[in-house]
Amino acid sequence: MTPVAFLGLGAIGRPMAVRVAARFPLTVWNRTGARATELAAEVGARAAATPREAAQGAAIVITCLPTSAEVEALLDGPDGLLAGLDPGALLVDCTSGDPATSRRIAARLEPLGFGFVDAPVSGGTNGAESGTLTVMVGGEPQLFDRAAPVLAAFGSRIVRMGLVGSGHAMKAVNNALLAVNILAVGEGLAALVKAGVPARTALSVLNASSGRSFVSDTLVPERVLPGAFPKTFKLSLLQKDAGIAAGLLRDTGVSGPVIDLAWRLYGEARAILGEDADYLEAIKVIEQHAGVEIRG
Ligand code: NDP
Repeated sequence: MTPVAFLGLGAIGRPMAVRVAARFPLTVWNRTGARATELAAEVGARAAATPREAAQGAAIVITCLPTSAEVEALLDGPDGLLAGLDPGALLVDCTSGDPATSRRIAARLEPLGFGFVDAPVSGGTNGAESGTLTVMVGGEPQLFDRAAPVLAAFGSRIVRMGLVGSGHAMKAVNNALLAVNILAVGEGLAALVKAGVPARTALSVLNASSGRSFVSDTLVPERVLPGAFPKTFKLSLLQKDAGIAAGLLRDTGVSGPVIDLAWRLYGEARAILGEDADYLEAIKVIEQHAGVEIRG
């Protein structure tokens, strides 16, 4: 059985690690150590005190941190991952990170005999709990083949996107489209409510028409209208993803005013609502600017 280490037991990392523990011998590490010891006791895993200790003896080391910067920072120092990785170990980064940092990490690890793939996920905390995440993998085919059986513990659709960094590129664009859509649906509904059309009436038409989307048919009715903002996915993280996508467009020479604007507007919402706000709370800022409550 492949020994696995999982580092980063946040909102999505924790349920992913629980599913890995059901199939593989698992060691967990988390910056706030109590979360690791509590999870280890719950699922019969080993809790490590440092990233180095977590890496020791693991064939596959999974990271799930806020950004690529935290992943890169975990590599170095006496207690860092590199001090503990076993020969030939494979690092699988499930962070929604940025392609350039991932390519830099991979280039650093390769001459040391370690593999690296980026493997961000989509499907939210519910998808992590039920093992139905989509996993977007960037890396060499033979590394993908090694990672896939472990990724199958929490993913039901595991797709190799291309070389290292391409999983992160895919994830960033997906989430940038989500951000664009939330803002557009929020703006449209605010205007309709001000024009005298109740939000639920507007949605009943939108969702039977060509303006329909996941935001309009699921997220707004199930979360925004009842005022349910469960904070399972932070607004700050979605803004980070839109920024990565905006950077990707710049790097590839694609003019991207729409995604760039979504990143800026989400930045404004982040400054107003704080680091821990739920990603759908951006609609509250639209409501404030418009002087109307869609939810009412
Ligand atoms: P959370 O904010 O809930 O958790 C962040 C995790 O990273 C925690 O374990 C935290 O440790 C750890 N961490 C934060 N800063 C550092 C640091 N400097 N060094 C080491 N560890 C650190 O985030 P999520 O779990 O929601 O997200 C993780 C990644 O997954 C992000 O890239 C996100 O964009 C992505 N993602 C999230 C989804 C979701 O629905 N939540 C869906 C799809 C992707 P501590 O416990 O000590 O705070």
